[in-house]
Amino acid sequence: MFTCVNCGSQVQELFKKYSPTVLKLMHCDKCHTLADKYIEYDPVIVMIDLVLLNEQAYRHILYNSPFKSHWRLAIVLILFEAYSGWAQQKIIDPSNVSHDLFDGEGNFYFMCFQAVVGTAVMFTFIYFLTWLRWILHPQTKPKNYRNIILWKALVLSNCGKFLMIPSLIWGEIGTEMHSFFIIAYTFLSQLKTYAVVCNTTKLGAGLNIFFGLVLKFYVTNTISKIR
Ligand SMILES: [Zn+2]
Repeated sequence: MFTCVNCGSQVQELFKKYSPTVLKLMHCDKCHTLADKYIEYDPVIVMIDLVLLNEQAYRHILYNSPFKSHWRLAIVLILFEAYSGWAQQKIIDPSNVSHDLFDGEGNFYFMCFQAVVGTAVMFTFIYFLTWLRWILHPQTKPKNYRNIILWKALVLSNCGKFLMIPSLIWGEIGTEMHSFFIIAYTFLSQLKTYAVVCNTTKLGAGLNIFFGLVLKFYVTNTISKIR
């Protein structure tokens, strides 16, 4: 089964192939629009719509495309989060950074550990809240909900962190305003993807994500103090 990118209902097929060059896109029985217009689109346009936080593009990637590289993306995001935290530490307080090469390397591994634990705690907490919701209100659970889809959605929604790249390259961009923009954009992206996968209101999705982020912040802060 596939998913209509407009209304989120399940559809049997997305297109019919009459010949190697003739393809007919199918309509959704519920909303009567094209079930997945992105099948004919160039991947670049899908990427642009993802950056613009378009719900239809999220549904296309999560339900109607293989998106097998989610594990690799998760690892890259963890390494990137650790590296940006490590690099920012150097910019904010250069006097506190050891010039010993191996000590600096140790700091990076510690940042990796912090990012892995923080992200694991956040994801587990969001899964727990979602599971609790399905227990309390089973009628609201979408038919196409799968735990792996929620995992893919959470990984995909963290891509906003790559906006830190200009800041890391040109240092000066790493202002408070820039950091606030990245946090706000990533939060909006997480909120949108969670609402798409769990079919919740933006408020419900926002609260789940917000508490997950607060818990992650608390855990990473505690780990850095213990060290
Ligand atoms: Zn539809």
